[in-house]
Amino acid sequence: MRTEHQPSEKPVVRKAHDDKELRMVCGSSIGFVLALETGTTPLVVQFDDPEAKPVVCAPAERADPVPRPLQPFEGRPAVCWALEACCQAQMAAVYVIAAGAIADQVRDAIASDDFDRYGVDVRVVTSDPAELVERTAALANFKMFDLSSGVIALVRDLAEGAPETYGSAVVLSADNVRVTAEHLYELCADAHEYPEAEVVSSWIAWLRRPPYLFTRGFLTSMESRGLTSVGANGFDRAVPKIAVRDHVFGEEKLAANGVAVKSVDDFLAGCELSALEAVALARRSLAHPDEKLVSPNSAKSLMGPVAARPLGACDMVLVDIAKDVLKNRESYAKPDDLAWADRFGKRCKMDFPLLNDRAHAGKLAYLDTAATSQRVDVALQAQRDYDEHENANVYRGGYALSAQSTFTFNDARARLESFIGAGRREVVYTANTTGATNLVAQAWGEWNIGEGDLIVVTLEAHHSNMLPFMMLAQRKGARLEYVPYGLDGRIDLEAYAEALAQRPKLVCLAHVGNVFGIAAPLEGMVEAAHEAGARVLVDAAQSFAHRSIDVKELGADWVAVSAHKAYGPMGIGALWISPEAFDEMDPLGGGGGTVSHVGIDSYYLRPKTIQYEMGTPPVSQAVGWAAAIDYLDKVGMGDVARHDAVMTDYLVEGLHRIDGVDVMGDHSGSDGKTGLVSFTLRSLVPASLAVFAGKLGVAIRSGGHCALPLHASMGLIGTGRISLGVYTTVDDVDAALVAIEACRRAYEGNV
Ligand code: PMP
Repeated sequence: MRTEHQPSEKPVVRKAHDDKELRMVCGSSIGFVLALETGTTPLVVQFDDPEAKPVVCAPAERADPVPRPLQPFEGRPAVCWALEACCQAQMAAVYVIAAGAIADQVRDAIASDDFDRYGVDVRVVTSDPAELVERTAALANFKMFDLSSGVIALVRDLAEGAPETYGSAVVLSADNVRVTAEHLYELCADAHEYPEAEVVSSWIAWLRRPPYLFTRGFLTSMESRGLTSVGANGFDRAVPKIAVRDHVFGEEKLAANGVAVKSVDDFLAGCELSALEAVALARRSLAHPDEKLVSPNSAKSLMGPVAARPLGACDMVLVDIAKDVLKNRESYAKPDDLAWADRFGKRCKMDFPLLNDRAHAGKLAYLDTAATSQRVDVALQAQRDYDEHENANVYRGGYALSAQSTFTFNDARARLESFIGAGRREVVYTANTTGATNLVAQAWGEWNIGEGDLIVVTLEAHHSNMLPFMMLAQRKGARLEYVPYGLDGRIDLEAYAEALAQRPKLVCLAHVGNVFGIAAPLEGMVEAAHEAGARVLVDAAQSFAHRSIDVKELGADWVAVSAHKAYGPMGIGALWISPEAFDEMDPLGGGGGTVSHVGIDSYYLRPKTIQYEMGTPPVSQAVGWAAAIDYLDKVGMGDVARHDAVMTDYLVEGLHRIDGVDVMGDHSGSDGKTGLVSFTLRSLVPASLAVFAGKLGVAIRSGGHCALPLHASMGLIGTGRISLGVYTTVDDVDAALVAIEACRRAYEGNV
């Protein structure tokens, strides 16, 4: 039923302060709480390329083999908080939209909670996941959205079906379903046509933040009463469950979710400085307060002196932010440690050509070492020497050059093996860590995993250490169990013990995860897994360049690593294989180099790990990697770890100081100081932050970091991530802090 409705031109943005108003508006409403509708990992449809077809991940028809438990928040399922918010607002009825196994879990959660006292009709509405996917796919104009678009369509239908009953619909997103600002904007526009299905929005950021609840009617009524802010702690119970603390319909939120905002575009267009240059200028300005700051570009001209150009307004904002950051640096509690780490970083930086070239020196703060590190000069040089003077195929030629090449290659492998405490010929070269984990899944999994067997992986696992085993489990009819993490970023050891009690055949762990950056207590975990009868794979991609590894001490069966995350070349990684695991493996592929003899219908594999290296190996890369290993050895892993620890502390403290930043995990212990820190900035889509920072010459990573199930379990579509290398200086970290603070201000229209 449509009624005459005069929408305001734009959604109203107000801060208001009166929870009674909230009740008044919500009183005749029906609330919808979006729970995990699918019971699968979230269905994300991404349109990075406007021309590209939508990609629907995790097809709905395939049930998740392990339904996730409901997302807990402060000891209670998050969905119950959202439900309570609706009840407290005295809504007429509250529906939870859920499907599949999750619907049952929600029903149980509702039954064991105490909603009866509110006298509100709380129900679970099951929806068809396939239908939701279809609806979502139809909305192809959005850059990125998730299933909640489909849910919104469902809400519309329900509200349209009985508009006279429901004064308005209140939509709260719960668990891993996110209603983005685009949805709200869309829904808002829609509500102008269907006022009875009043546009309502909510925001529940699960990590340490209370949910936000807004209704358009609410905001309008706030406006008409001239109220300016809402703090809804006046409800019967003193829990901040309905705290309206922020704008939803404003430009800020829209911007925060990827919709272009003038203040952001204008600001970036006005910035000539990189964040690193801003830090340098701020230092100068603090030292010489009376000096007028000029653009660094005006001072440097190949054509001779150029009239000094004063800094523009946006650059001044950057410099002002940088001054604050530098003042905080001055008052940092451990100045000696910081000065040491800075000297270490500066010394190492000199060894990395890219960081010293004309395009990047003094401009680029490279803080994405976890994705790939910069290459150290000795590795580049070693590769070049090999390519120029020793290049020939290995293990094949009878001539001197080939023998030399074989010698060099063997030597490179031996250097890698001794760096990680491995025995001779226990290491297989692969393309990367992913190649190594897949090798385990195939060459071991194929012969040792059967129907009904259990494989345990961790929820933080990189897709590299998850997908090969998900695929293996699907091929073999095996089961896959995920071990969850706490909000402190540490693996849930109780859940791990429970998983082991089911006697898995294989356990896949990460030494240091690439989201939380917290080192797992591996020794005990490996031992416990062995006691439970499992073989253990350790993904050491993120620890190899940060902590010494001794594979024998670790006691695992396989350790997987990549050279490119450790100052070596791309295109090469390795798998260490214990002699025991080696005996249970057999290659799935073959070719030149893997066999000692081939007959017309038989073959003899070469002994030791070389049987897994099919065809010509990446010799030049192996040589470069060995040189990078020598470099790490020379620098000293002890100092590398000390540099990581000091810089991580400094970074985390700086991030905590930025309003709206939530650091993922607890980095206060020594296990949390691995030089990798993920964070969120309000509800800003992380890609927006990374693009913004990138424009200021700060290279940080954003997104799901190939760990989508973990992000989904936290109700996040992604995080920002800063990762450090030996070359990271305090200025680099400060540049990142400047960029993030500038980003926050720009998106808030405050620059
Ligand atoms: N595991 C972890 C923990 C990682 O961080 C990464 C890379 N981000 C990988 C595995 C995969 O490494 P690669 O791309 O070199 O195969």
